[in-house]
Amino acid sequence: MERRLRAVEDRIAGACRRAGRRREEVTLVVVTKTVGPEVAGWLHALGVRDLGESRPQELWRKRAVLPPDVRWNLIGHVQRNKIERTLPVHLIHSVDSLRLLEALNEHGTRVRTPVRVLLQVNVSREGAKQGFPVAEMPAVATRLADFGALRVAGLMTMAPLESDPERCRPVFAGLRELRDRLRPAMPSPHNLKELSMGMSNDFEVAIEEGATLVRLGSVILT
Ligand SMILES: *Cc1c(COP(=O)(O)O)cnc(C)c1O
Repeated sequence: MERRLRAVEDRIAGACRRAGRRREEVTLVVVTKTVGPEVAGWLHALGVRDLGESRPQELWRKRAVLPPDVRWNLIGHVQRNKIERTLPVHLIHSVDSLRLLEALNEHGTRVRTPVRVLLQVNVSREGAKQGFPVAEMPAVATRLADFGALRVAGLMTMAPLESDPERCRPVFAGLRELRDRLRPAMPSPHNLKELSMGMSNDFEVAIEEGATLVRLGSVILT
């Protein structure tokens, strides 16, 4: 696992160089959904601090036993009845409805702690993919003015699984262009600095297109 992690680090550094970006602009989130708390603990021992889980229950289970300096990233669907027990986390990547934004904002208001989130956008328009349709995003951005207990920090998307990662490039470029279009209209305190895009299969292309967070599981863990 250590060797795989170092190899991924080299590939991230290479993609940053090709794109003329600094390595510090990209955060590696290791997705631990397929492994248990013990393996997640080994990652921590290797210096990894940003871990991602797609199911709240699995996040709770690992958080209970891992050191408190882990930055937990929730990358999958959050049911509203799990908000209470799941927060606080470092970042929720997968907010895909106004109802969920409202519920998170209510929670943030009640506990007087802002909730950091990304808006998941369905750029590829694959039927099964979750996320706001691109066309709805200007209206969603306007609504964010009502959500003072949220900090919308950016956008997230998933590209279709392709054997040639170059075919994902238009999806990643599309998310960046959407971000650039929405950015001037973002009501404070929100901003759209972060772009969470890129998985094991396509992260180098995503970094070349501006990813600030890559979510990697299998390339490190299997
Ligand atoms: C599982 C998962 C990942 C990691 O996928 P790999 O292909 O294993 O790197 C990234 N993002 C989301 C939303 C996931 O569910």
